[in-house]
This record gives sequence, structure tokens and C-alpha cells, in this order.
Amino acid sequence: MKTLQCPACGHKVNLKQAGATKKVNGIFMLQCANCQQWSHESRNAAVVKNLGLMLMITGSVMGYFQLGGIITGPLIAVIGGLIAVATLLAVPRVVYTGT
Ligand SMILES: [Zn+2]
Repeated sequence: MKTLQCPACGHKVNLKQAGATKKVNGIFMLQCANCQQWSHESRNAAVVKNLGLMLMITGSVMGYFQLGGIITGPLIAVIGGLIAVATLLAVPRVVYTGT
């Protein structure tokens, strides 16, 4: 289970232990159990993360059919996965100020 960090108080927000969750305009919101602050994933991070996931899927398919040799597909998949994970870790969550 991945752990997220509350942008307001730095408290680790576990998806299972989160105070509450909700969806606003298709964006997944998490409430911090410590400070009750709502936060969500940065929009830019979501775009880059999806790009990484797409690379990962493309690379997996390429690797499965051995398109471009046995190295290219898995390599693309690994790079895509790294991009997705790095984005999640590097880009801080955004404090949600609406209601
Ligand atoms: Zn918090």
C-alpha cells in the first residue's frame, strides 16, 4: 500500500487510514487523519504519471511480442515505471481549499 504525505502538516496519509476520501470533478481527494486537511494529487504530476504508465504498458506489450528486439520493450517499460514512481515521490500533493 503506497503512503502519501499530507501537504499541510507532513503527516503520512495511508489510503486505508485516511480520515475520509471523496471525488471532486473526477479528482480523488484524501483527508488527513491528523489535521483534517483535504489534499489531492497535483494535476501536472497526474499527467506525467499517466505518461509513465502508458510507456510502461507500451513497453510491456513491445516486450511481449519482442518488437524492436528483446531489450527495447522491457527497457521502455522500466523507464516508464521509474517516471511514474518518481513523479509520485517528487511532486508534492496540493492542499484543497474548496469545500
Ligand atoms: Zn495533515
